[in-house]
Amino acid sequence: MKEEITIRLIILAILLFLLFIGYCANSNAWNDGHCSCGGNWVYQEAVGHSYDTWYLYQCDKCGKTQEFHRKR
Ligand SMILES: [Zn+2]
Repeated sequence: MKEEITIRLIILAILLFLLFIGYCANSNAWNDGHCSCGGNWVYQEAVGHSYDTWYLYQCDKCGKTQEFHRKR
């Protein structure tokens, strides 16, 4: 059953890669504390998911909300 193990490792590698891409995209959304409209992210609340905690921020200019993986 060597092939089966190889396939599982490939699937695991792909999942980790997608997770990494998602994390990078989220880091870019922070944009040094500024929304894409030029406003500032204002901390609202912590959002608890089953596996970890995200922090909800809202733009003080356009009102857009964004979750970030860690508190800034
Ligand atoms: Zn904004």
